[in-house]
Amino acid sequence: MTTFLITGANRGIGLALTAALIARGDRVIATVRDPFKVPGLLRTAPRDQMVLLGLDVRDGRAVSRAAATLDEPVDVLINNAGIFGPERQTALDMDFEGFAETLAVNTLAPLRVAQAFLPHLKQSRVPRILTISSQMGALSGSASGSAAYRASKAGVNKLMQCLATELKPAGIPVVVAHPGWVQTDMGGAGADITPDASAVGLLALADKLTLADTGQFFRWDGSVHPW
Ligand code: NAP
Repeated sequence: MTTFLITGANRGIGLALTAALIARGDRVIATVRDPFKVPGLLRTAPRDQMVLLGLDVRDGRAVSRAAATLDEPVDVLINNAGIFGPERQTALDMDFEGFAETLAVNTLAPLRVAQAFLPHLKQSRVPRILTISSQMGALSGSASGSAAYRASKAGVNKLMQCLATELKPAGIPVVVAHPGWVQTDMGGAGADITPDASAVGLLALADKLTLADTGQFFRWDGSVHPW
């Protein structure tokens, strides 16, 4: 049984990842903002397969508290929680408060969560960190619009690349992945793929991660994404 810690496990891609892991017999430490308002699966999953942790990823104290209450190894951390950001977010018309919140959730929080749960990852025989990023953060493309979101994902890509370098001596692979354009609240009903299809691909990627992959940017289907 492999133990995955997934942020934002209550809906969208996080919920699909959780459902797939429960179905195949793995253990999920599911972090949600409100543990009293979660979908049935998170309440009815077998007890030995599910731990619910309440935390808002923007809240450093809540993240540290949650890490302090968890007394077990974590094999795979999946930083999934994310937001699209404010309505006004072009390079010429920016809601800067909304931009700051987008950075707090999408950029700073994955690093904060990784640092907080590093002791748990170090207890695993095969620790791995996968952060859900987006192709919209790739610096190799020049598309505009949604600038806060794009910058937040470009930022987390760089942070995770730094973390990969720093954790290489400890033998912990760190990667980022574009999950596809996915039919969730964020992606919308007209998106390309279902959350289940994205989850299957992301888990196949997480399952096979080794130090040879560290510091790379992948797509959900396992192919390498240009930075
Ligand atoms: P979603 O359906 O909107 O779900 C977002 C999840 O993040 C929810 O569980 C939400 O919890 C959680 N979250 C947001 N802010 C949080 C906070 N401050 N603290 C804790 N949890 C928080 O989005 P999704 O499509 O599943 O996206 C998941 C990840 O994939 C995100 O990182 C997103 O940027 C990335 N992504 C998605 C697509 C796509 O097409 N859908 C494409 C590229 C990348 P609440 O229910 O409490 O809000």
